[in-house]
Amino acid sequence: MVVAYDRDNIFAKILRGDLPCTKRHETEWAMAFDDIAPKTPVHVLVVPKGEYVDFNDFTARATAEEQAGFWRAVKETAEICGVGEEGFRLTTNNGEVAGQIVFHFHVHIFGGRPLGRMVRASDG
Ligand code: AMP
Repeated sequence: MVVAYDRDNIFAKILRGDLPCTKRHETEWAMAFDDIAPKTPVHVLVVPKGEYVDFNDFTARATAEEQAGFWRAVKETAEICGVGEEGFRLTTNNGEVAGQIVFHFHVHIFGGRPLGRMVRASDG
């Protein structure tokens, strides 16, 4: 199901400076900040500055420059957070069925400890 972009979503407020965050990185295209409920020692969210609901929306509508700038910022954020070399996991939840709760496209960077298998058969 396609959800309309809501300018009052939490990450839009963080991008505008209306809500606080622990910022890790910022470029022309993206901002990265700590997840408020970290699941791993490093758990950072990278969000594009443009208004995109989810991965599908971002890849369909963002310019090539925006997309390249966003993914470059993801890589830089992993390095800044000290996991660039040792390894990390990228996750994006696309839609409610995947568990997406904030409908501004974002990528999770998980790291800082061994992460195990991707998704266990027993999950959920
Ligand atoms: P999801 O939409 O499922 O990919 O997950 C959204 C993530 O946003 C969750 O991991 C939340 O812990 C995180 N989150 C929610 N509110 C905030 C906030 N104010 N600052 C940072 N992270 C947040």
